[in-house]
Amino acid sequence: MTSDFPELNPPQRVLLGPGPSNVHPRVMRAMAAPMLGHLDPEFILVMERIKELLRIVFRTKNEITFPASGTGSAGMEMVLSNLIEEGDEVVIGVAGIFGERFVDCAQRLGARVTRVDSPWGRIVEPAQIGAALKKLRRPALVALVHAETSTGVYQPVEEIAQLAHEHGALMVLDTVTSLGCVAVDIDAWQIDACYSCTQKGLSAPPGLAPVTLSARAMEVVRQRRTKCPSWYLDLAMIEQYWGGARLYHHTAPITMNYALYEALRLVVEEGLEARFRRHALNAQALHAGLEAMGLQLVAQEGYRLPQLSTVAVPAGADEATVRDRLLREFNIEVGAGLGPFKGRVWRIGLMGESARRENVTLVLAALETILGSMGVETARGRALEAAAAVYSANHGDS
Ligand SMILES: *Cc1c(COP(=O)(O)O)cnc(C)c1O
Repeated sequence: MTSDFPELNPPQRVLLGPGPSNVHPRVMRAMAAPMLGHLDPEFILVMERIKELLRIVFRTKNEITFPASGTGSAGMEMVLSNLIEEGDEVVIGVAGIFGERFVDCAQRLGARVTRVDSPWGRIVEPAQIGAALKKLRRPALVALVHAETSTGVYQPVEEIAQLAHEHGALMVLDTVTSLGCVAVDIDAWQIDACYSCTQKGLSAPPGLAPVTLSARAMEVVRQRRTKCPSWYLDLAMIEQYWGGARLYHHTAPITMNYALYEALRLVVEEGLEARFRRHALNAQALHAGLEAMGLQLVAQEGYRLPQLSTVAVPAGADEATVRDRLLREFNIEVGAGLGPFKGRVWRIGLMGESARRENVTLVLAALETILGSMGVETARGRALEAAAAVYSANHGDS
């Protein structure tokens, strides 16, 4: 019988896709720590420390800052289902799959959604959001994706947050692919509600969604005319477990919280600024290498994410075959294009633990080898040289 169900034996991959990213051994070890009850005083200590660490990483003083149970999408659903009531006017910036999801989620909650669309690969322009806000009577919120993982675009948010507030709306931000990779400055940017995940920039396994809500957002939550339509994600109840009362709502995923705690300790040990510099440097080297190979980056220049690069598939290469060979021959995972980018781009992630010089070198060498064997014209050997030049110019060895 046991032969039908062999022992679990997953290979050790180099995870250079849109997430999950590679997990530090210290985080894996933390998950093997003894189980505790979800109301054990020792676990409550861990919860309090996670809240403090998340405030450091989100750069906020928000009291309501904790990891929701579930992946990044649960964070989106928690934020929207607690802030939106049926008939509310909301404005959503859409320039990729994750903007589309925002719209879908808000519409399911009965919001009257004004979409502000931008072509894939480009940012949402603040002026367009401003124009949309002017047409509304009483907009409840503006929602935006900080790092659009489907396009590799790095969306500026400060000006849009200011516009939202000028119109009396809350500002909601998806930082699922940005937290831990690039600056996320909740208080300075005046973001009212924000959610992220554990498996991308923070390099823990998937399973929790750090969220943070401003006092202004919590006022809206507390003054709802109707109950939050989701029982599981109801902040009014959950804040009584993560806050002082310690009332049972649902069982916290204990082991995932151990993992997040250790991952956040690693982030703080490295230092936020050092971590952002590491991501920037490795992306600069990757981009130099790709361009030396004659490959083109798809995201709007000046707004490219360091942690997620969209690369156009060159003529003569089959998108899926290349990805398949990267996995089988080099043990590397990269992402496929989604929506209009399907079959046309690869998505190379350098998130958290995965953002390392050896991974940049490996993926460039692997791509050069595979594309070369397909007869795609590439500058043989030049990619590694170009990447190395970036590192030596920065005296870096990240
Ligand atoms: C990955 C991602 C999500 C969804 O997160 P899950 O953890 O897969 O639920 C949401 N938004 C963005 C921008 C993402 O990249």
